Amino acid sequence: MAEVQSVAPLTNNRRRLFVAAAAFAQRLIAPSYCQHCHDYCPSSRLLCDRCGPALDSVPLPAPSELDAIPVYSSGLHQGVLAQSVRALKYSGATHLAQPLGQRMRMALPAALARIDVIVPVPLHAVRLAERGYNQSALLARTLAKDLRIPLLATALRRQRATLPQAHLGREQRCDNLRQAFAPADITPGSRLLLVDDVITTGSTLRSCSDALRQAGGQVVCILTTTQAPLPPADASRAPTDASVALAVP
Ligand SMILES: [Zn+2]
Repeated sequence: MAEVQSVAPLTNNRRRLFVAAAAFAQRLIAPSYCQHCHDYCPSSRLLCDRCGPALDSVPLPAPSELDAIPVYSSGLHQGVLAQSVRALKYSGATHLAQPLGQRMRMALPAALARIDVIVPVPLHAVRLAERGYNQSALLARTLAKDLRIPLLATALRRQRATLPQAHLGREQRCDNLRQAFAPADITPGSRLLLVDDVITTGSTLRSCSDALRQAGGQVVCILTTTQAPLPPADASRAPTDASVALAVP
C-alpha cells in the first residue's frame, strides 16, 4: 500500500510532464496560430481567445438594398473585421477566407430564397496575376462549401482593368466601372448569390448585377464581408446620381 502511495504522485508528475512535452512537440511539429494576430492558439480554433470573441461580437448590420436586391453584410468595415478583410485582400492572408466566409454565412437570413449558383466579383486578369488570388472568390468558395451551393467563379469576366475604387469619388466610380464586366458563363434563368469582400457605394456590385441580368441571370441577393459605414445624412450632399445610393430601410 505504502509503495502505491509513493508511486502515485510520481505518476501524476510524469503524466503532467508528458502532456507538457506533447503540447511542446505539437507546437514544433504542427504549430497552431491565430489566423488573425498570429499568436499561438492552443486549440484547433482558427482565432485566438482575443480575436475570436472580438470577431464574434461585431454586430450584424441591418440588411440594405441595391436596386431592390437585398444586401447582407457580416459587419461594418471597421475594427477587427476590417483588419481581417485588408489582410485577406492586400497581405496574402488567404487563410482568413474561411473564418470570414463562415461569418458571412451568419449574415444570411435563415429562410433564404432558392439560389442556384454563387458568383464572386471577379478581378481583372492583370490584377489577379499580380495578387495571385481573388479574395472574393476565396470567400465565395467557403460559402459554397457551407451552403452546398455550386460556385461559378467564371460567371463574370472583368473585361477591362479599372482604377481602384477606393480612391475615386462617386461619379468617377460609375465611369470607372462602365462596361467593366461581361458575363462569360451563365445559364439563363439562374438565381444567383453575388459575393464581394466590401460594399461601399455599391457601384461595383451594380455593374456586376447589370451584366448578369443582361445575360439572363437573376441576382437574388448580395452578400459582402463588410459594409462601409454610411455617411451621416446631409441633404445638401445627397448624391445627384441616384444609381449610386445604397438604400438602407
Ligand atoms: Zn488572435
